[in-house]
Amino acid sequence: MRLILLGPPGAGKGTQAQRLVNKHKILQLSTGDMLRAAVKAGTPVGLKAQGIMERGELVPDDVVVAIVADRIDQPDVKKGFILDGFPRTVPQAEALDAMLGKKGLGLDRVIELRVDDGALLNRIEKRASDTRARGEPVRADDNPEALKKRLDAYYAQTAPLVGYYARKGKLSAIDGMASIPQVAVAIDGILGKAAGGGKKVPKPPSRSSKTARAKVKSRVKPGRKPKAAKKSGKSVVGKKKGISRPRPKAPARRTRSGRG
Ligand code: AMP
Repeated sequence: MRLILLGPPGAGKGTQAQRLVNKHKILQLSTGDMLRAAVKAGTPVGLKAQGIMERGELVPDDVVVAIVADRIDQPDVKKGFILDGFPRTVPQAEALDAMLGKKGLGLDRVIELRVDDGALLNRIEKRASDTRARGEPVRADDNPEALKKRLDAYYAQTAPLVGYYARKGKLSAIDGMASIPQVAVAIDGILGKAAGGGKKVPKPPSRSSKTARAKVKSRVKPGRKPKAAKKSGKSVVGKKKGISRPRPKAPARRTRSGRG
Protein backbone atom coordinates (compact mmCIF):
# COMPACT_ATOMS: atom_id res chain seq x y z
CA MET A 1 0.00 0.00 0.00
CA ARG A 2 1.31 3.42 -0.94
CA LEU A 3 -0.51 6.28 0.63
CA ILE A 4 -0.28 10.04 1.16
CA LEU A 5 -1.85 11.86 4.08
CA LEU A 6 -2.51 15.47 3.21
CA GLY A 7 -3.58 18.20 5.60
CA PRO A 8 -2.42 21.31 7.45
CA PRO A 9 -0.11 21.12 10.46
CA GLY A 10 -1.96 19.67 13.45
CA ALA A 11 -4.56 17.91 11.28
CA GLY A 12 -3.65 14.54 12.80
CA LYS A 13 -1.59 13.09 9.95
CA GLY A 14 1.13 11.78 12.25
CA THR A 15 -1.33 10.10 14.63
CA GLN A 16 -3.17 8.34 11.83
CA ALA A 17 0.05 7.43 10.03
CA GLN A 18 1.36 5.74 13.19
CA ARG A 19 -1.83 3.71 13.52
CA LEU A 20 -1.69 2.63 9.86
CA VAL A 21 1.94 1.63 10.26
CA ASN A 22 1.01 -0.72 13.10
CA LYS A 23 -2.04 -2.05 11.34
CA HIS A 24 -0.62 -2.63 7.86
CA LYS A 25 3.07 -3.12 8.74
CA ILE A 26 4.15 -0.47 6.28
CA LEU A 27 6.58 2.40 6.73
CA GLN A 28 5.85 5.96 7.73
CA LEU A 29 8.02 8.32 5.73
CA SER A 30 7.80 11.72 7.37
CA THR A 31 9.96 14.37 5.76
CA GLY A 32 9.51 16.49 8.91
CA ASP A 33 11.01 13.67 11.03
CA MET A 34 13.81 13.13 8.50
CA LEU A 35 14.66 16.83 8.48
CA ARG A 36 14.53 17.06 12.29
CA ALA A 37 16.92 14.08 12.45
CA ALA A 38 19.24 15.86 10.00
CA VAL A 39 19.13 19.03 12.13
CA LYS A 40 19.89 17.03 15.27
CA ALA A 41 22.79 15.24 13.58
CA GLY A 42 24.12 18.54 12.23
CA THR A 43 24.40 17.24 8.64
CA PRO A 44 24.76 19.73 5.77
CA VAL A 45 21.04 19.26 4.99
CA GLY A 46 20.21 19.82 8.65
CA LEU A 47 22.25 23.00 8.82
CA LYS A 48 20.52 24.30 5.71
CA ALA A 49 17.03 23.35 6.95
CA GLN A 50 17.19 24.40 10.60
CA GLY A 51 16.42 28.12 10.34
CA ILE A 52 13.82 27.57 7.62
CA MET A 53 11.99 25.02 9.75
CA GLU A 54 12.08 27.16 12.88
CA ARG A 55 10.48 30.01 10.95
CA GLY A 56 7.74 27.67 9.71
CA GLU A 57 8.72 27.99 6.06
CA LEU A 58 9.20 25.22 3.54
CA VAL A 59 12.61 23.70 2.90
CA PRO A 60 13.53 24.00 -0.82
CA ASP A 61 12.05 21.31 -3.07
CA ASP A 62 15.39 19.97 -4.31
CA VAL A 63 16.58 19.29 -0.75
CA VAL A 64 13.41 17.42 0.27
CA VAL A 65 13.07 15.55 -3.01
CA ALA A 66 16.68 14.32 -2.67
CA ILE A 67 15.96 13.02 0.86
CA VAL A 68 12.83 11.18 -0.28
CA ALA A 69 14.53 9.81 -3.41
CA ASP A 70 17.28 8.28 -1.23
CA ARG A 71 14.80 6.81 1.20
CA ILE A 72 12.48 5.41 -1.45
CA ASP A 73 15.40 3.51 -3.00
CA GLN A 74 15.90 1.43 0.13
CA PRO A 75 14.65 -2.16 0.06
CA ASP A 76 12.32 -1.91 3.10
CA VAL A 77 10.13 0.56 1.18
CA LYS A 78 8.93 -2.31 -1.02
CA LYS A 79 6.38 -3.36 1.61
CA GLY A 80 4.58 -0.05 1.19
CA PHE A 81 4.61 3.36 2.85
CA ILE A 82 2.66 6.32 4.10
CA LEU A 83 4.04 9.68 3.17
CA ASP A 84 3.42 12.18 5.93
CA GLY A 85 4.32 15.77 5.12
CA PHE A 86 5.44 15.00 1.57
CA PRO A 87 4.74 16.14 -1.09
CA ARG A 88 4.07 19.70 0.01
CA THR A 89 4.29 21.45 -3.35
CA VAL A 90 3.26 20.59 -6.90
CA PRO A 91 6.89 20.19 -8.05
CA GLN A 92 7.43 17.72 -5.18
CA ALA A 93 4.32 15.78 -6.28
CA GLU A 94 5.61 15.68 -9.85
CA ALA A 95 9.01 14.49 -8.64
CA LEU A 96 7.30 11.76 -6.61
CA ASP A 97 5.28 10.63 -9.63
CA ALA A 98 8.52 10.41 -11.62
CA MET A 99 10.32 8.48 -8.85
CA LEU A 100 7.52 5.95 -8.49
CA GLY A 101 6.95 5.79 -12.24
CA LYS A 102 10.57 4.72 -12.76
CA LYS A 103 9.94 1.80 -10.42
CA GLY A 104 6.67 0.95 -12.14
CA LEU A 105 4.76 1.91 -8.98
CA GLY A 106 1.85 4.24 -8.30
CA LEU A 107 -0.01 5.67 -5.34
CA ASP A 108 -3.03 3.83 -4.04
CA ARG A 109 -4.71 6.77 -2.36
CA VAL A 110 -4.25 10.34 -1.18
CA ILE A 111 -6.31 11.13 1.90
CA GLU A 112 -6.99 14.75 2.76
CA LEU A 113 -7.75 15.54 6.41
CA ARG A 114 -9.92 18.65 6.50
CA VAL A 115 -9.84 20.73 9.65
CA ASP A 116 -10.78 24.22 10.87
CA ASP A 117 -7.90 26.64 11.29
CA GLY A 118 -9.25 27.59 14.72
CA ALA A 119 -8.82 24.06 16.03
CA LEU A 120 -5.26 23.79 14.84
CA LEU A 121 -3.76 26.20 17.33
CA ASN A 122 -5.40 24.25 20.20
CA ARG A 123 -4.08 21.00 18.79
CA ILE A 124 -0.58 22.33 18.38
CA GLU A 125 -0.65 23.73 21.93
CA LYS A 126 -1.86 20.37 23.23
CA ARG A 127 0.87 18.54 21.32
CA ALA A 128 3.45 20.86 22.87
CA SER A 129 2.10 20.40 26.41
CA ASP A 130 1.84 16.59 26.01
CA THR A 131 5.43 16.51 24.78
CA ARG A 132 6.55 18.64 27.72
CA ALA A 133 4.65 16.36 30.12
CA ARG A 134 6.55 13.36 28.73
CA GLY A 135 9.77 15.24 29.47
CA GLU A 136 10.66 15.43 25.78
CA PRO A 137 11.89 18.55 23.97
CA VAL A 138 9.13 20.56 22.27
CA ARG A 139 9.42 21.18 18.53
CA ALA A 140 10.87 24.60 17.80
CA ASP A 141 8.04 25.31 15.33
CA ASP A 142 5.16 24.31 17.67
CA ASN A 143 4.35 27.88 18.69
CA PRO A 144 1.69 30.36 17.50
CA GLU A 145 3.98 32.49 15.29
CA ALA A 146 5.51 29.53 13.45
CA LEU A 147 2.10 27.86 13.19
CA LYS A 148 0.73 30.91 11.38
CA LYS A 149 3.62 30.73 8.91
CA ARG A 150 3.14 26.98 8.48
CA LEU A 151 -0.56 27.47 7.78
CA ASP A 152 0.19 30.19 5.24
CA ALA A 153 2.69 27.86 3.56
CA TYR A 154 0.09 25.09 3.55
CA TYR A 155 -2.62 27.13 1.86
CA ALA A 156 -0.29 28.80 -0.61
CA GLN A 157 1.92 25.86 -1.58
CA THR A 158 0.38 22.58 -0.44
CA ALA A 159 -3.38 23.05 -0.88
CA PRO A 160 -3.03 23.01 -4.71
CA LEU A 161 -2.20 19.31 -4.31
CA VAL A 162 -5.86 18.70 -3.48
CA GLY A 163 -6.74 19.58 -7.09
CA TYR A 164 -3.64 17.84 -8.42
CA TYR A 165 -4.62 14.48 -6.93
CA ALA A 166 -8.36 14.95 -7.49
CA ARG A 167 -7.67 15.31 -11.21
CA LYS A 168 -5.77 12.04 -11.08
CA GLY A 169 -8.75 10.36 -9.38
CA LYS A 170 -6.62 9.57 -6.31
CA LEU A 171 -8.10 11.91 -3.70
CA SER A 172 -10.44 11.12 -0.83
CA ALA A 173 -11.29 13.84 1.70
CA ILE A 174 -12.40 13.18 5.25
CA ASP A 175 -13.46 15.26 8.22
CA GLY A 176 -10.34 15.63 10.32
CA MET A 177 -12.36 17.39 13.04
CA ALA A 178 -13.93 14.10 14.10
CA SER A 179 -12.44 12.10 16.99
CA ILE A 180 -9.29 10.05 16.38
CA PRO A 181 -11.24 6.72 16.31
CA GLN A 182 -13.82 8.21 13.92
CA VAL A 183 -11.12 9.49 11.59
CA ALA A 184 -9.52 6.04 11.77
CA VAL A 185 -12.78 4.37 10.73
CA ALA A 186 -13.17 6.80 7.82
CA ILE A 187 -9.62 6.13 6.62
CA ASP A 188 -10.04 2.36 6.92
CA GLY A 189 -13.25 2.59 4.89
CA ILE A 190 -11.47 4.44 2.10
CA LEU A 191 -8.54 2.02 2.11
CA GLY A 192 -10.87 -0.97 2.10
CA LYS A 193 -12.54 0.35 -1.02
CA ALA A 194 -9.22 1.24 -2.66
CA ALA A 195 -7.84 -2.27 -1.99
CA GLY A 196 -10.98 -3.95 -3.31
CA GLY A 197 -11.06 -1.83 -6.43
CA GLY A 198 -7.34 -2.14 -7.07
CA LYS A 199 -7.05 -5.90 -6.82
CA LYS A 200 -9.88 -6.90 -9.13
CA VAL A 201 -9.33 -6.78 -12.82
CA PRO A 202 -12.46 -5.34 -14.45
CA LYS A 203 -14.24 -8.09 -16.37
CA PRO A 204 -15.25 -7.40 -19.94
CA PRO A 205 -19.03 -6.83 -20.01
CA SER A 206 -20.98 -10.03 -20.44
CA ARG A 207 -23.40 -10.46 -23.31
CA SER A 208 -26.36 -9.79 -21.01
CA SER A 209 -24.83 -6.66 -19.48
CA LYS A 210 -24.03 -5.38 -22.98
CA THR A 211 -27.69 -5.86 -23.85
CA ALA A 212 -28.78 -4.09 -20.67
CA ARG A 213 -26.52 -1.17 -21.45
CA ALA A 214 -27.81 -0.99 -25.00
CA LYS A 215 -31.38 -0.92 -23.63
CA VAL A 216 -30.58 1.88 -21.19
CA LYS A 217 -28.80 3.81 -23.95
CA SER A 218 -31.71 3.49 -26.30
CA ARG A 219 -34.02 5.01 -23.67
CA VAL A 220 -31.75 7.97 -22.99
CA LYS A 221 -31.54 10.98 -25.24
CA PRO A 222 -28.01 12.22 -25.88
CA GLY A 223 -26.81 14.48 -23.07
CA ARG A 224 -29.34 13.14 -20.54
CA LYS A 225 -28.79 10.86 -17.58
CA PRO A 226 -30.53 7.47 -17.58
CA LYS A 227 -33.26 8.63 -15.17
CA ALA A 228 -35.53 5.65 -15.65
CA ALA A 229 -32.83 3.19 -14.63
CA LYS A 230 -31.83 5.33 -11.64
CA LYS A 231 -35.37 5.83 -10.36
CA SER A 232 -36.32 2.20 -10.55
CA GLY A 233 -33.38 1.34 -8.28
CA LYS A 234 -32.49 -1.53 -10.58
CA SER A 235 -28.85 -2.39 -10.80
CA VAL A 236 -27.29 -0.67 -13.73
CA VAL A 237 -24.16 -2.17 -15.29
CA GLY A 238 -21.33 -2.29 -12.77
CA LYS A 239 -23.49 -1.56 -9.71
CA LYS A 240 -23.81 -5.24 -8.98
CA LYS A 241 -21.80 -6.42 -6.00
CA GLY A 242 -18.52 -7.99 -6.98
CA ILE A 243 -18.12 -6.18 -10.28
CA SER A 244 -15.18 -3.92 -10.03
CA ARG A 245 -15.15 -0.81 -12.15
CA PRO A 246 -12.57 1.94 -12.39
CA ARG A 247 -13.54 4.95 -10.28
CA PRO A 248 -14.65 7.95 -12.26
CA LYS A 249 -12.21 10.82 -12.13
CA ALA A 250 -13.16 13.30 -9.42
CA PRO A 251 -13.91 16.69 -10.89
CA ALA A 252 -11.65 19.55 -9.93
CA ARG A 253 -13.39 21.36 -7.08
CA ARG A 254 -12.97 24.41 -4.97
CA THR A 255 -12.53 23.66 -1.30
CA ARG A 256 -11.74 25.86 1.61
CA SER A 257 -8.31 24.29 1.57
CA GLY A 258 -7.85 25.55 -1.98
CA ARG A 259 -7.68 29.15 -0.92
CA GLY A 260 -4.59 31.25 -0.81
P1 AMP B 1 6.16 18.57 9.66
O1 AMP B 1 6.78 17.73 10.72
O2 AMP B 1 5.65 17.77 8.50
O3 AMP B 1 5.13 19.53 10.20
O4 AMP B 1 7.33 19.47 9.03
C1 AMP B 1 8.06 20.39 9.83
C2 AMP B 1 8.82 21.35 8.94
O5 AMP B 1 9.76 20.62 8.13
C3 AMP B 1 7.98 22.11 7.94
O6 AMP B 1 7.38 23.27 8.51
C4 AMP B 1 9.01 22.46 6.88
O7 AMP B 1 9.85 23.50 7.31
C5 AMP B 1 9.85 21.20 6.83
N1 AMP B 1 9.30 20.22 5.87
C6 AMP B 1 8.80 18.98 6.14
N2 AMP B 1 8.41 18.36 5.03
C7 AMP B 1 8.64 19.22 4.01
C8 AMP B 1 8.43 19.17 2.61
N3 AMP B 1 7.87 18.11 2.04
N4 AMP B 1 8.79 20.26 1.88
C9 AMP B 1 9.36 21.34 2.45
N5 AMP B 1 9.57 21.46 3.77
C10 AMP B 1 9.22 20.41 4.55
